[in-house]
Amino acid sequence: MELERVSEHAWAHVSPAYRFCDANSGFVAAAPGVVVDTQSDLAHARALRDAIAAVRPDPPGYVVNTHEDLDHVFGNQVFEGAEVVGHRSLPERLPKAASPIRMRKTLEYTRNKLARLALRIWAPGALAAVDQLAGDYDFTGVELVKPTRLVDDHLTLELDGLALELTHVGPAHQEGDLLVHLPAEEVLFAGDVVFKDATPIGWRGTFADWRRALDVIEAKAPARIVPGHGPVCGLDGVADTRAYIDHVEGAARPLFDAGVPALEAAKRIPLERFADWHCPARLYANVQRAYRGFRGDPPDAAWDFLDLFNGMHKLARARELPVEY
Ligand SMILES: [Zn+2]
Repeated sequence: MELERVSEHAWAHVSPAYRFCDANSGFVAAAPGVVVDTQSDLAHARALRDAIAAVRPDPPGYVVNTHEDLDHVFGNQVFEGAEVVGHRSLPERLPKAASPIRMRKTLEYTRNKLARLALRIWAPGALAAVDQLAGDYDFTGVELVKPTRLVDDHLTLELDGLALELTHVGPAHQEGDLLVHLPAEEVLFAGDVVFKDATPIGWRGTFADWRRALDVIEAKAPARIVPGHGPVCGLDGVADTRAYIDHVEGAARPLFDAGVPALEAAKRIPLERFADWHCPARLYANVQRAYRGFRGDPPDAAWDFLDLFNGMHKLARARELPVEY
């Protein structure tokens, strides 16, 4: 793993892949050193730690988690001695959104022959999703390390001569979405509020909430943005994420009003220029999210993940899209 230099003190690890759990990380190389997000499993986290040590040998003083999804927090334990920083909601949200025990049990369950047979018949999309994860990651040994330094709306970490500003903008993609901004160098780590060249997906709040978070990034006017997934970009990444959300929500509205079920709607909505993005079948999840908003569901309403994965799978098959999550 190598880091990409983004500015004098900011570095990014850009994941070469774009599927679930292929998250980016960042590093701010001003004392005491700040890691932004810690990857999905211990092997990836250790590779990140080694890449960071090549930039700055002292162990980092802080880990910032941009939100509570597992691909951003499962490597926290590898950065021993670092103070973990996150939004105030994270200690309560982490065990629900990112349980290593649940992930290990899920992967173990799908190794059972009878379970695989049943899933192949009743939930082929969920089986494909778990198989993808099992092929990419190994959650053995992961222990949840929760933040101890909590951010309400805003917190500034004073580094050696540099201010690192953390701003809560959730719920947009998740409850605890934090922007990590290095204003002196015009660099912003956006977490999963921004996806670049990959279809966005989010779990908490509404699309209107997400747009407000994008507004906050635009107001900060960073020159370079490290998205949660996809290559380093500028404000074009914010515009792309917004354009996708606007497109899906706008196209879904008349279909919702006409009583068209979400899967059928996802089959009809044109993908336009977004067809080339990775994981286009996430369109089903985004139609579901739009429908939740139209119905006025609570922003923290639980997701039916079985339905979600099966729906994406059916959509991919129906529209001849890649089966990737
Ligand atoms: Zn992510």
